[in-house]
Amino acid sequence: MSDLQNTDAPARPGIVVTGASGRMGRMLVRLILDNPEARLAGALERPGHSWIGRDVGEAMGGVPVGVTVSDDAVAVIAQAQAVIDFTAPAATVAFAELTAQARAVHVIGTTGLEQPHLDYLKAAARHAPIIRAGNMSLGVNLLTGLTRKVAAALGEDWDIEVVEAHHRMKVDAPSGTALMLGEAAAEGRGATLADLRTPAREGITGARVPGTIGFSAIRGGDVVGEHDVIFAGAGERIVLRHLATDRAIFARGALRAAIWGQDKGPGEYDMQDVLGLN
Ligand code: NAP
Repeated sequence: MSDLQNTDAPARPGIVVTGASGRMGRMLVRLILDNPEARLAGALERPGHSWIGRDVGEAMGGVPVGVTVSDDAVAVIAQAQAVIDFTAPAATVAFAELTAQARAVHVIGTTGLEQPHLDYLKAAARHAPIIRAGNMSLGVNLLTGLTRKVAAALGEDWDIEVVEAHHRMKVDAPSGTALMLGEAAAEGRGATLADLRTPAREGITGARVPGTIGFSAIRGGDVVGEHDVIFAGAGERIVLRHLATDRAIFARGALRAAIWGQDKGPGEYDMQDVLGLN
């Protein structure tokens, strides 16, 4: 981690990390400090958190970096060109208002947002860009775009199956990312996933219904996340695969989004926009 990072570089966007002590927050702080195109402009935590008032580099067990962890979101976000936010829905909505007031880019990785939260973000996006994705990995978002294109190019005689693997602690299936890929495949075929999704298979299921999209889930060990989209035709098969080995991919995608958003107008964007796939 560089401690020269915050000396001076007006051209680099100043980025604030919310929930700086969280798993994603720490990763983001490290990535920004190591990125020559960005500057760490602030680190936020909740009032009462043990990191408040400490240098964020030191709090993370490293050298001082000249950025003090603060609970004053109003003052810190007012100085930002971008806010990267992996916290919780209520906090994200509050940060959206401050980020919109600062006319800064708000990159949101927080999941579990419900319709009232989304309505609030829509209102905030009238004043500044909001970039949000349930999976910020560049690779998964690229895979989503490719899945849509391949599904559009191939006819219904190519069966589509999504196979995913995750660690043994994961409680839900299929993964949110698998569903996102299934939705992209359905879109490629001019439909919605609700129309094409095959129920989980077990026992005598009968032959595959043409044009449907199936899902399978593997659970075991410490697998970070693996997704295959299989297009199975007569005599040939195409497999689009993404393998995640490190949660840093989400932080890298978010930082890229924050930099990408610097010259964008108000509005809601996702990682497909960041990658130029929309
Ligand atoms: P985590 O380790 O629990 O970190 C969350 C951080 O947010 C903590 O520092 C927490 O502070 C802070 N926070 C929570 N509520 C807050 C509030 N009301 N005000 C201020 N700060 C608040 O969780 P994580 O693994 O980093 O994940 C965070 C979020 O990102 C989750 O929604 C997760 O699903 C999502 N995520 C998304 C992606 C993606 O690609 N989109 C990837 C990974 C994770 P305290 O410790 O004080 O509670």
